[in-house]
Amino acid sequence: MRRKLAAGNWKMNGLRASLKELEKLKAAHPDPACDILICPPATLLAPAVDMCWSTPVQIGGQTCHHKLAGPHTGDISAEMLKDVGASAVILGHSERRADHRETSEDVRMLAQSAQEVGLTTIICVGESLFQREATNTLDIIGGQLSLSIPDTSNGENLVVAYEPVWAIGTGQVPTTNQIGEVHDFMRDRLEARFGYGVGKSVRLLYGGSVKAANADEIFAISNVDGALVGGASLKAADFTPIISALE
Ligand code: 13P
Repeated sequence: MRRKLAAGNWKMNGLRASLKELEKLKAAHPDPACDILICPPATLLAPAVDMCWSTPVQIGGQTCHHKLAGPHTGDISAEMLKDVGASAVILGHSERRADHRETSEDVRMLAQSAQEVGLTTIICVGESLFQREATNTLDIIGGQLSLSIPDTSNGENLVVAYEPVWAIGTGQVPTTNQIGEVHDFMRDRLEARFGYGVGKSVRLLYGGSVKAANADEIFAISNVDGALVGGASLKAADFTPIISALE
């Protein structure tokens, strides 16, 4: 049985004052029936880990470099994330793919490095609106999955997040059929590549305009094991009902 995961991606949002939201999250979910992960900006990782140490709220990074150390100004390695106390890292988010031209091959290298140091890798895939209209969405997702996910993946160190680019921050959510089609396809692909047992154990998250108002409907879709939430994860008051919908 896969344990559900509510993951919050704060993106480039959050100052020290935002840490009070973590206090509220901890207080609201002392013994949750699902995993809770918050990925704040790198500047808040250390205080966030200190604040949430030995609580159900885990802390993760938003990307990492594929090397463990070296002359890469401004970058952060997977080992540094592990060292600061992060348990996971988001990789290949469509904003990284767009802003930093990360390819699926790049994402696989980052994921390898992160898995080597013992981080859970949340690998993001998703089609653009142009791709959905012009080509076969499942071909796009299949290509991203096979190129981005390293061979060292298993149910412990891999989570896949399906985030259609056109649903991120737009308030536009795919139909339940559209989400279900992609999630069932991803499950089939993982089972075909890693074998039934491992493929079945990888958690599949949906991301893109998830809110309290649509969480119940999205979480009822088969093969949706949780959510990767952007805007609605910034305030505990918005994220808490989404977490509760998963419990
Ligand atoms: P929103 O929830 O703001 O649409 O963002 C989704 C996302 O990109 C999470 O990684």
